[in-house]
Amino acid sequence: MRINRALRLGVGAIALALIAATTAACGSGDDKTTLEHAEEGKLTIGIKFDQPGLGQRNTDGTYSGFDVEVAKYVAGKLGVAPDGITFKEAPSAQRETLIENGQVDFIVATYSITDQRKEKIDFAGPYYVAGQSLLVKAGNTDITGPGSIAGKTVCSVKGSTPAQNIEKNYPDTQLQTYDTYSLCLEGLNSGAVDAVTTDDIILAGYASQSPGRYKVVGERFTTENYGIGLMRGDQESRDRINDAIEEMIAEGVWNKAFQDSVGRAANYQTPEAPKVDRY
Ligand code: GLU
Repeated sequence: MRINRALRLGVGAIALALIAATTAACGSGDDKTTLEHAEEGKLTIGIKFDQPGLGQRNTDGTYSGFDVEVAKYVAGKLGVAPDGITFKEAPSAQRETLIENGQVDFIVATYSITDQRKEKIDFAGPYYVAGQSLLVKAGNTDITGPGSIAGKTVCSVKGSTPAQNIEKNYPDTQLQTYDTYSLCLEGLNSGAVDAVTTDDIILAGYASQSPGRYKVVGERFTTENYGIGLMRGDQESRDRINDAIEEMIAEGVWNKAFQDSVGRAANYQTPEAPKVDRY
């Protein structure tokens, strides 16, 4: 979208037509970077809407969870007050596209930093380290961890790292994918799937929301470094977001945000904060 700057400088007619086409494909319809939006006091931030303790849209229209707190803190450090933030739902499979199209300024949505995703977008962070795990009904006794999912139907979300992991490394497991984890839970409730798999912290949030109904089983079997996704190559914004994450941790706000959200809800011990990786 930097291309629009070239337009202001005045390029040839052919280039103009090309630029018009490129701009039309952009969601926000402007050429501004995250920091430029922040200067205007407005940011659009992608979060999950259905992950209790992490990113949730409440029935009264407010948003809560650890990712929401991280998003608000970062926005604040960029000079944007909470009422200047528009939260947009960022389902797992749409995250890179939302960023590439400029429909969001950045995404804080249980978003694992991976080399594959880095080909399309950049990440600040990590700001949290999770790991893949399994959620089953409380009465289930035959699934105890990744070693016992052969022949079982396991649900995950399209475009997520846990879905990729099952597909690649657990060929004897039937993978069912939906657009969101809450749809996977419906599948678990109805008996359509035997287990739901994603990051332990997400599953713990669901388990705590319905006490006695589900249980998280087995140890973490991957490492998921949660990053804040943003436009590839926007180094200036990335540096500022990395600074903000470090400040959130140093000031103890990170600890408190974790405790007050997923920590309390899912009875999760607050871990050590990770070190930001300025790759
Ligand atoms: N952290 C994993 C990922 O980024 C799973 C959680 C999610 O789908 O948001 O794909």
